[in-house]
Amino acid sequence: METPGTPASKTAVVVRVDFGACVLRLDDGTLLRATVRGRLMGERKSLGNTIVVGDRVLWDPGDERGQVPVVTAVEERRNAFSRRAPGRHAAEQVVAVNLDQVVLVSALDHPPFSRGLADRVLCQAESAGIPGRLVLNKCDLGGDDPAARESTGEILDDYSRAGYPGHTVSAQTGAGVGELLDACRGGRILFVGHSGVGKSTLLNAMFPALDLLVGQVNAKTGRGRHTTTAATLLRVAPDLELVDTPGVRAFGLWGIEPANLAQVYPEFHPRLGQCRFSDCAHFAEPGCALRIAVDEGLISPRRYGSYLKLRGELQADSSRESLRQGGWT
Ligand code: GDP
Ligand code: ZN
Repeated sequence: METPGTPASKTAVVVRVDFGACVLRLDDGTLLRATVRGRLMGERKSLGNTIVVGDRVLWDPGDERGQVPVVTAVEERRNAFSRRAPGRHAAEQVVAVNLDQVVLVSALDHPPFSRGLADRVLCQAESAGIPGRLVLNKCDLGGDDPAARESTGEILDDYSRAGYPGHTVSAQTGAGVGELLDACRGGRILFVGHSGVGKSTLLNAMFPALDLLVGQVNAKTGRGRHTTTAATLLRVAPDLELVDTPGVRAFGLWGIEPANLAQVYPEFHPRLGQCRFSDCAHFAEPGCALRIAVDEGLISPRRYGSYLKLRGELQADSSRESLRQGGWT
């Protein structure tokens, strides 16, 4: 607890945050709109990360004179899934907290599978200690079309070797949807994907009451259902909570140092510490154990290629940021 609640305070979970107010789900399931005590703002780095979807909070109902309910304290988080906030300067955006799984939804084709997004999201989940899962939607379109950028088998094999279960599904025909649903039971699951991959169609196929539940949260914010761009936490089944996020355009890593990137590729772990140089960046250094493992077929060249790309990006980001902090830009 950051601050003790008053004896009258009650607990709730945050299901939506927008513009300084939030929607809470009380322990009996009631939804309630609340403001946030000013004193809580500023304790974390930015206002937007003080109260996040998935936070467990204490709230006071206010007195009889019609005061609005107010969040008074936030419980410690067991994990937090962040990204680099869109925009020029480096800032953290905490997307959701207290999660059991992160599910990356992509299409096999239309749009083509994006390894860039998949690896960023799974690295970020790994860095937060949250298990990841991969979903390839639109399998009815025949993903093994030779014109598709990558074969389904290659994709699934790369990620299963890294410890990420994969599913090929069709939101349209329902193929594989039941198995995915079973794999999500018993937890709070964050779904992330590029727009157009069929995430909304898939979630509607998994949870027929979804629109109704979203409508109930939107009714508390007074905003039209199509205007929201915020993440929403929904109890879609007695044993399953979903955090739905708007389709992402770009996803930047947050809180991962270039030198630590290899650690968020789980299949690299057995080779780390075996390079000739202790500060090996695993680029082209002689005696690099990761490169040797790639040459021997033990590490996927595609995952290694994505590591090189992300490492380059992180290094460019950190040099830009140190220039900025040094007053050079
Ligand atoms: P979102 O932006 O990820 O939420 O994507 P939508 O759910 O809006 O779907 C984008 C488009 O893909 C729509 O035209 C859907 O009808 C289509 N779509 C979604 N799932 C499937 C699928 O499994 N197979 C096929 N063929 N099309 C799909
Ligand atoms: Zn190395």
